[in-house]
Amino acid sequence: MKIPSLGNLSRNSKISILSGAGMSAESGISTFRDNGGLWEQYDIYQVATPEAWRADPQLVLRFYNERRKQLLNARPNAAHYALSQLEQHFPHTHIITQNIDDLHERAGSRQVLHLHGELRKSRSCADENLVYDIEGDSIAWGEKCEKGSQLRPHVVWFGEAVPMIEKAAEIIAQSDLLLVIGTSLNVYPAAGLLHHLPPGREIICIDPAELDLSAFPHSIHWRMKAGEGVKLLVEKMLQSAT
Ligand code: NAD
Repeated sequence: MKIPSLGNLSRNSKISILSGAGMSAESGISTFRDNGGLWEQYDIYQVATPEAWRADPQLVLRFYNERRKQLLNARPNAAHYALSQLEQHFPHTHIITQNIDDLHERAGSRQVLHLHGELRKSRSCADENLVYDIEGDSIAWGEKCEKGSQLRPHVVWFGEAVPMIEKAAEIIAQSDLLLVIGTSLNVYPAAGLLHHLPPGREIICIDPAELDLSAFPHSIHWRMKAGEGVKLLVEKMLQSAT
């Protein structure tokens, strides 16, 4: 498992990480598409779209309240902790996560960009700039923002714009190395971010499933779970840089 780019690593290297639902799978938070994933229990169009919110907001609130309860009982896993350790050695490490959980932050990572929002925050339906921390585990029907409109989950639903995508693309465009962890690369525009890496820079993917990386000649795929794979990779990176 030789990784050419590790030979060039220094403390000033710019490392970015794109993480997906598989990152948190070993923390007990199910992915959407795997067997036993969330999609099998819910129809996404009834819980994670603007149309769903208009049709039955209380069902949508219940779905995310359940997810939030599950999150509060979950803990970061070995992969989250390894990435936090990576940031301590390489200060220019940035995590771009598709996950709405806060397990990267709870493991100690500080530079985390949430592409699809944050489960532990709510926001106003009238003004998207009014975002609040959720006290406890739920948003209640009838709970309102300071402008008097209902609060909704601060998540990006299918069919909505992804406001952080440009910032994420900028980070990747300046990176020396990109790690892609636990994502099927089926969800756009997030999956398109790989194309922003400068030519010749390496991509290292860790995911047990088969991935189509044919567009990326400088990519390496470790078919491993995040807990084991990320820990091993971070150990190698820290050894190479000392
Ligand atoms: P996905 O469900 O499309 O893909 C998950 C990937 O994780 C798969 O490729 C699978 O092989 C891999 N995987 C499963 N177990 C793994 C493990 N132990 N280690 C490493 N990889 C593993 O998820 P996605 O590509 O992230 O996109 C789905 C969308 O769902 C995301 O946009 C995200 O917002 C949302 N989501 C978030 C959470 C969360 O916040 N934890 C959970 C589920 C879904």
